Amino acid sequence: MEKQDFDSINFQDIPADFYCDSNDSVFEECTFCRKKLFTSSGSYMIEKSFKINPNNGKKNTVFEYAICMSCNLKKMNAMISESVSNIKLYMQENFSQEDWELKINSGSNLFKKCAVTGKNVKELSEYNIIGQFLSNKMVVGHFPILLSPSIGEEIQELLSQETKDEFDDFMNTINDVPPELKELFKTKRPVIV
Ligand SMILES: [Zn+2]
Repeated sequence: MEKQDFDSINFQDIPADFYCDSNDSVFEECTFCRKKLFTSSGSYMIEKSFKINPNNGKKNTVFEYAICMSCNLKKMNAMISESVSNIKLYMQENFSQEDWELKINSGSNLFKKCAVTGKNVKELSEYNIIGQFLSNKMVVGHFPILLSPSIGEEIQELLSQETKDEFDDFMNTINDVPPELKELFKTKRPVIV
């Protein structure tokens, strides 16, 4: 994740899109280490993956998690640096800075389209949203973003097999991760970098 310019950061209330399904409210702890998110000073990330039901247009959560910065750092360290720089390059080449600025200024329609492909969310049958948070506020800057699943797949291809193995090892060292999430990460790894 790039270091953010403080002038361009603003805060918003956490949108309901990022609520935790189990309590239909904000995430209170890191999914991985159970650290309380509101009492710690560091920021944290949330990723949610949705599938749209074609019959009624409603979205269902495929997976969701909140990750504190120290767990995120551990995750990053588990990935060899070559893969990390591949992803950073991919992000730089594909993400439009103008879109971010537009988003910050408009303050609405945060999840209207895929940040990379530009596809309208209405055309997507599944997508992921990723946000950055500090205590009970959402940090609006480079995040939040909406990504179509194809982006995740492209990023997966940038990861070396070694990194994939190390990431699996990392997941295995963490206790308390819900088993279904653990299994899912083996095939569909989170895209946050
Ligand atoms: Zn954690």
